[in-house]
Amino acid sequence: MTKPTKKVCTAQIGRLMVFENSFPKQATGIQELIDTLCQIAHTEDHAKRVIDRALSASEFCPMPVDLKRIAAATPIKETAPDGCGLCDYGWKRVDKEGQGGVRRCDCVRGRYFAELDRQRAAS
Ligand SMILES: [Zn+2]
Repeated sequence: MTKPTKKVCTAQIGRLMVFENSFPKQATGIQELIDTLCQIAHTEDHAKRVIDRALSASEFCPMPVDLKRIAAATPIKETAPDGCGLCDYGWKRVDKEGQGGVRRCDCVRGRYFAELDRQRAAS
């Protein structure tokens, strides 16, 4: 396994800039996120999937501690079945009474992750 390069981590953290409301405004804050991702990601692909999850799971930019938690819950190798194309990591965006949120998708990928959620909750 090859750890992701700083360049890869910088590009992945750049994807979080969609969270304009909470993306760090200071270079040191951005650097903290890049350093954290470089530290916790096992491979380039893992780094990408950690950020995929961060983008799917919250409307807010993760803090370094959130990235660590997300990385711990992201398998180093992808083992889940393919999704329906409407969801990402089994999460689907929902809009309920003006409140944005996410829930598990009904497709095979969503059900796969829902089952993992159940197993994690039970242990
Ligand atoms: Zn789906």
